[in-house]
Amino acid sequence: MVDVCIIGFGPAGMGTALYSKRAGLETLILEGTGVSGGQILQTYEVDNYLGMPGINGFDMGMAFRQHVDGLEVPVKDGTVDSIEKTPEGFLVHLQQETIATKTVVVATGASHNLLQVPGEEALTGMGVSYCATCDGAFFRGKKVVVAGGGDVALEDAIFLARFCEKVTLVHRRDALRGAKILQDTLLSLPNVEVVWNTKITEIKGSDQVEAVSIENVLTKEQQDMPVDGVFIAVGTHPNTEFMGELVEKDSSGYLVAGEDCATSVPGIFAVGDVRTKALRQVITAVADGANAVTSIQSYLLHH
Ligand code: NAP
Repeated sequence: MVDVCIIGFGPAGMGTALYSKRAGLETLILEGTGVSGGQILQTYEVDNYLGMPGINGFDMGMAFRQHVDGLEVPVKDGTVDSIEKTPEGFLVHLQQETIATKTVVVATGASHNLLQVPGEEALTGMGVSYCATCDGAFFRGKKVVVAGGGDVALEDAIFLARFCEKVTLVHRRDALRGAKILQDTLLSLPNVEVVWNTKITEIKGSDQVEAVSIENVLTKEQQDMPVDGVFIAVGTHPNTEFMGELVEKDSSGYLVAGEDCATSVPGIFAVGDVRTKALRQVITAVADGANAVTSIQSYLLHH
């Protein structure tokens, strides 16, 4: 039986592994996707992590990974089906095997939301994308639209403006949610237009995106806008389905836990984007790992 089983290997899982190993706890990491790094791997630039101004997200993920690799914490590939509480601790059920552990750290992060409009699913990969960093280069010299008004939408629009002819940000309200510094940068770019109070109602095209239908939410006025690509950045949802009803979740599915990362079930901890918190950033995800291990040490002293 291991002391700590960490599910997920983004910044929160890696931060937990670092502190757990240094605390002398027998630690196992379960990596679901086969690629470590989490959402930052798809981020062009991270400019708000202390000491690493302007670092590329992929490079950051790799730097984190190298640090953890140097600690020789075992990493196992596998998707978790469920977690079972036992008198001794927990059984983490994977598709092929079961891991016995004294504590569980859930670090499974979040995945992108769908816009849920006609044409989105059929044209995904044919002009519809959820990752500007991954797919942006295919749209060099083209016209694209970005849906959303949060940090990701702003970062995506700024990134795409480097090589697209025109970037139109379509936002459903009259104010952006993303960081002020990103707003200022975005609004200063000559090839970016923001269309306020507007939603995309349909993505059109036969075997490639050709246009989006948009509707002004105030006037209900509708029009078609010819575009080559649609980048969807309308938020994320937590990857917590496999947890079932074992621990308390909020109405959006995030695991309810405070700064000590302790969930409603003693011995299960939640770190990073999967946890209820006000600010989901790399720096707060890594910090969760440190805090969780302090809580784990205290838990193990009493169990
Ligand atoms: P977010 O902050 O939740 O923003 C989602 C945006 O999509 C909002 O503007 C929202 O509009 C809009 N939206 C949601 N559903 C929509 C729909 N059905 N149709 C049209 N628009 C819709 O999500 P995010 O940008 O993915 O960021 C996720 C988290 O990661 C945030 O906490 C963010 O701060 C963090 N993050 C941080 C960094 C960084 O620090 N460098 C970078 C990226 C992300 P409303 O504004 O009207 O709600």
